[in-house]
Amino acid sequence: MRSFLYKFAMFMQGRYKMDQLNYVLLIASLLLSFINVFPRSLIIYFFELLFLVLFFFRFLSKNIYKRGAENRKFLSIWGKTRDFFILNKNKIKEFKTHVYVKCPYCKAQLRVKRINGKHKVRCPRCGESFEKKIHFGGKNK
Ligand SMILES: [Zn+2]
Repeated sequence: MRSFLYKFAMFMQGRYKMDQLNYVLLIASLLLSFINVFPRSLIIYFFELLFLVLFFFRFLSKNIYKRGAENRKFLSIWGKTRDFFILNKNKIKEFKTHVYVKCPYCKAQLRVKRINGKHKVRCPRCGESFEKKIHFGGKNK
């Protein structure tokens, strides 16, 4: 038993193991296998296997640098997607009271109170100021 554990530890040495992307791959694969209990779709099964193979490939990979770069890229896309959904959720929720305008200098999304007229907006990110006209529902009353 001891020698088996030792061999296993040796085998795992220098391998990449877990990161956020691997958690997502593993969970996605398990989730798909769970979903696929009844439909037994070949397409779902294919993705289930694909995610699992990718997971093991990355888990056992010795190219730590490359796997780390993949994970950073994944986290960046994940963050942007999450921000996009949060922003749009807030836009819908605050539609009656606020509008979102893009800073022309740094492209940051800024929240401005929905009051008719010209607004002087100062971007808190880059410090630049710009003017923005706001209309109610597209029409000025
Ligand atoms: Zn700005």
